[in-house]
Amino acid sequence: EAPGRDMRPHSAKIPGVKTIIAVASGKGGVGKSTTAVNLALGLRSLGLKVGLLDADIYGPSMPRLLDITERPEIVGDRVIPIEKYGIKVMSMGFLMQEDNPVIWRGPMVVSALMQMTREVDWGTLDVMVLDMPPGTGDAQLTMAQQVPLQGAVIVSTPQDLALIDARKGLKMFKNVDVPIFGMIENMSTFICPHCGKPSDIFGHGGAEEDARRLGVPFLGAIPLHMAIRENSDAGTPIVVAEADSIHAKYYRDIALKV
Ligand code: ADP
Repeated sequence: EAPGRDMRPHSAKIPGVKTIIAVASGKGGVGKSTTAVNLALGLRSLGLKVGLLDADIYGPSMPRLLDITERPEIVGDRVIPIEKYGIKVMSMGFLMQEDNPVIWRGPMVVSALMQMTREVDWGTLDVMVLDMPPGTGDAQLTMAQQVPLQGAVIVSTPQDLALIDARKGLKMFKNVDVPIFGMIENMSTFICPHCGKPSDIFGHGGAEEDARRLGVPFLGAIPLHMAIRENSDAGTPIVVAEADSIHAKYYRDIALKV
């Protein structure tokens, strides 16, 4: 652990939670939430006790990705996270209507996040995966400061634009002393289901090159594949739906590295 981390205000350890890893991206739509959920399930398949906190307060996607429609119970003054596929899940989306956009100001974002970390009965967890809101604005910066993160992984597509945003994300974590565990290239090579030929729709290798240049580990590339999208939409992430597939293996390999 980096020296002085516990000196930050409010970033005291969450009792019972050993490690917190943030999954972040420079911009939306690059597959951050898909990666977060499959990473959490990949960690669980390694035998760890895993929690998944959907902190993407502006567009929480865990209710959909995990097909959760019930609301969490409240016992005493503690919220009980929902258990799905062997992991404990909490999402702002459980507490709000799907088609009701949230316009929250900074202080509300912070207090919502504090409640989701500290007033939820997480029990004992080996690892909590924190799905961050996309981008590098105030909300993200506050989260990176207020939650006792062990490290962050950055998801990017191979495209230059997404990479430029990802670099901003790297810098943000560096500024608040959170170590970068590495970069993941999502929507990498596409293999045509008809002819079997690979196409690099969004380019290829950009994240790996970038990671090398920036001196952070490259954790792996996840292909652009229909089954990943279909299972996401169905609420059955590919790591559980097609546990033996090569795609599930990509996520498990990344889980082994973080
Ligand atoms: P973000 O959290 O970055 O906004 P999402 O995880 O919601 O992105 O992903 C955006 C869309 O892309 C979703 O429809 C998701 O199913 C799809 N998607 C993400 N990763 C992949 C992939 N590797 N292959 C195919 N579709 C993907």
